[in-house]
Formats: sequence, C-alpha cells, structure tokens
Amino acid sequence: MQDTRISFEFFPPKTEKGREKLKRVRKELNKLQPEFFSVTYGAGGSTRDNTLGIVKGMLKEKLPTAPHLSFGGDSEDSMLELINIYKDMGVNRIVALRGDRPSGMGGPSKQLVYANELVEFIRKHTGDHFQLEVAAYPEVHPEAPGYVQDIRYLKGKFDAGANSALTQYFFNTDAYFYFIDECAKEGIDQPIYPGIMPITNFVNLARFSDACGAEIPRWIRKKLDSYGDNVEAIAAFGEEFISRFCEKLLAGGAPGLHFYTMNNLEPTTTIVNNIRSN
Ligand code: FAD
Repeated sequence: MQDTRISFEFFPPKTEKGREKLKRVRKELNKLQPEFFSVTYGAGGSTRDNTLGIVKGMLKEKLPTAPHLSFGGDSEDSMLELINIYKDMGVNRIVALRGDRPSGMGGPSKQLVYANELVEFIRKHTGDHFQLEVAAYPEVHPEAPGYVQDIRYLKGKFDAGANSALTQYFFNTDAYFYFIDECAKEGIDQPIYPGIMPITNFVNLARFSDACGAEIPRWIRKKLDSYGDNVEAIAAFGEEFISRFCEKLLAGGAPGLHFYTMNNLEPTTTIVNNIRSN
C-alpha cells in the first residue's frame, strides 16, 4: 500500500478563515505524499477566480496541484486563456469535467460542454502537456440515458485523450468492481481511481448523495441514524468502515484512491494511516 497512488481533493474556501485552515490542512496532508491535490471548480465557472487563487498559492508551496475545469458558460477564448495561465504557472494535470449548472440559474441556457469535448479542446491546444483526469460513475451519472451508454461516454473521454479517471464516491465495492469489468469489455484499459468520501455527518452525506446519485446502503443509513447526533460515534464508525472499504478496493485491484477531503485533515489522515499500516 505504501506506493499506491493517493490524491486529495479540496474545494476553494470562500472566507479568509477557510483559506488559512486549508493552508494548514494541505501542509499536513502533504506529509502523506499524495501524487497530487485537486481543487474543484464551481458550476458555471462561479468560483473560477477562487480556484485559480488557491492553485496559485499551492504551486508557490511547491505542492503538486490539479485544478478542476469545466466550460460552464465560458467562451472558447476565455477557456483557452485560463488553460494557458495554468500551463504557464507550471500546472501539469487537470481534472476535465462538464460540470453542472449553478443551482438557481434556471431558465433555458446554453448546452453544457461535455467533458469529452473539453478533453479534445485541451489536447488540441496544448498537446500532451497536461495529464488529464476525467470523472467516472460506478453507480451511473444521474442524467445518463443508461448504464451502458454512460460507459460509452466514458470511453469517449479516453478516446479524446484522457489519461485516467476519478470516480464519484460510492459505498459498495461490488458497484466498482462490476463497473471496472464492464469498462474493460468496452475497451477501456486506463486506470480508474475510486473516489472515497469519508463519513462524518449523516445529514450532509444524505443530501449530497441524493444530488449526485451515490447510494448509501440501507444498513449504513440505519446505522448512522441510530447514532443520532453523537458525532464521535459516527466518526468512529466512519473511520473504521471506510478504512476497511479502501482495503477491500485495493486488495481487489483498485490502482489507488482519490479522497474527497472536504478540506479537513481528519478522517482522511487516519484512514490513510490505517490502510498503510496493514
Ligand atoms: P460528462 O462526462 O460530460 O457527462 C455528463 C452526462 O452526459 C452524463 O450523464 C453522460 O452519460 C452524458 N454524456 C457524456 N458525454 C456525452 C456526449 N458526448 N453526448 C451525450 N451525452 C453525453 N462538478 C463541478 O461543478 N465542479 C467540480 O470541480 C467537480 N469535480 C468533480 C470531480 C469528480 C472526481 C467527479 C466524479 C465529479 C465532479 N463534479 C464537479 C461533478 C460533475 O461535474 C457532474 O457530475 C456533472 O454533472 C458531469 O460531469 P462529467 O464531467 O462527468 O460530464
């Protein structure tokens, strides 16, 4: 497990306090020697400057940093400008996404640019400069026309030049292993890294999961429910369960792990240490 690839995802904090906290968190998490840290990009480009600012700060600290990127409502010119800024800053990895419309935007709006088109755009303008990560959905993207089609669209992202994929989070190892087998049948041989969501708060997790189509198994819902607002008990269960879950994924052949840290040091640190000590 020591040399298994791990990566950590952050979102750009909106407050000075949040930014200070993130500085401390990334300094500590860097001791775990991740392959890279990624920084999310708001739907519709709403946090474009926030993402850029955080990425700049992280590069100054010599941290391997991968901005997430999506067209949102941007023109090709402004997208290219941003990609070139990243290139000039020394970024060599991008997480290329379609993104979602910001909530509340409403009304008819421009068709979002699919991730395969963004990958193609980046390759067209910058060749092989960037390592490109894309998103994958072992439990199917909520808007996908179907299971098989969603895998074909993932294949389209690899055919356009993506190097590897990071998955939406899930809590069922079978969903991942079946997905990997189906991807292989479709001709996908690039690595697909499971996205790992630590469990710390039932209400937030349930809300998030409903929105992104990740299933929380009934027994986990019931278990978390039974703890009520005993956050220590939820944290202890979450750490134990997610550590074992990660071990099963790695033992079954997962090439590494991508952690949704939610900008927190814990429980990600404990989970990584748990799996590395076995
Ligand atoms: P796509 O791969 O473009 O797929 C979108 C939908 O369209 C799917 O249903 C797919 O089946 C279908 N589809 C794909 N290609 C085609 C095509 N060519 N023709 C027709 N249909 C097609 N969101 C953010 O806003 N900011 C972030 O920073 C962010 N980071 C993420 C990181 C990870 C690891 C993951 C897994 C998700 C992240 N998301 C983020 C969420 C993501 O943007 C949403 O799930 C979004 O709805 C889909 O993005 P995508 O890149 O997977 O889209």
